[in-house]
Amino acid sequence: MKKFTATLFVLLAAQMVLGASASAASIRDDICSKGVFNAGVKYDSPPFGFVDENGDVGGFDVDLVKEIGKDLTAFCKKPIKIVYKQVTSKNRIEFVQNGTVDIAAATATATYGRMDTVDFSNTYFLDGQRLLVPAGSPIKSTRDLAGKRVATAQGSTSEVNLKAAAPKANVISLQQYTDAFTALQQGRVDAVSTDSTILLGLKASAPDPSKYAIVGPFFSSEPYGMILKQNDSTWRNFVNETLSRVGADGTYRKVFAKWFGPKTKYSLPDPKRSQDIPAQFPVRR
Ligand code: GLU
Repeated sequence: MKKFTATLFVLLAAQMVLGASASAASIRDDICSKGVFNAGVKYDSPPFGFVDENGDVGGFDVDLVKEIGKDLTAFCKKPIKIVYKQVTSKNRIEFVQNGTVDIAAATATATYGRMDTVDFSNTYFLDGQRLLVPAGSPIKSTRDLAGKRVATAQGSTSEVNLKAAAPKANVISLQQYTDAFTALQQGRVDAVSTDSTILLGLKASAPDPSKYAIVGPFFSSEPYGMILKQNDSTWRNFVNETLSRVGADGTYRKVFAKWFGPKTKYSLPDPKRSQDIPAQFPVRR
């Protein structure tokens, strides 16, 4: 009996230790031990995540991922290699959940619905949904969409917002925003709809951007957050600290100016838009 009690005690103690270490293991520490940071980014959403003429992945989201990578290298005290993995609006949540990526910095709106299955970083960009149409199109706002074919991406909030704002529109959900824009360029759809800045990026990627126009008022609010695995506050806080740092040290403004500044291809037409990271952060002390 004594032996049995002793064995039981050992087993219980072992389970407590294992249980404690399992719950303490954070993606942050996993990255440090592997030396690799798998970052999910878009390839279809210029200027947030896209593949340039040289085949390199770049964009606003990618630049912020690089800052997280820098902070990881400092924290882990060894070089951390960033490996970019393509995610789409449809698979980005699943890729975070199943560990294919450590983060998805992928134009994702933080919604409470999505928070049922994943967590989000603090907000790092604010946008809203509009329409992209051929210049001179009779479509001026969501009120003109009845019976019209409107392309967007599967798994996006844009799909949901569009169905609510224009219930009589024929919403066509494609794999990628670049597919949606190709459909518009080929006259297979009448409009593309998603966040205004992605529309700006798609328009700017056309051989002649003046052939397209972004129209109508914003009909949604889209606060972007990076997608993170649920209940890993060590990793989430790490990412949020990087976002706080870049907001405080001027990096965010530099990255903003690089992609959206007045002389850029994606210059944001709204002069009132803030060039600072949205200020809803715990302060860095
Ligand atoms: N921000 C919206 C979303 O998270 C639309 C853009 C996208 O599909 O990434 O769904």
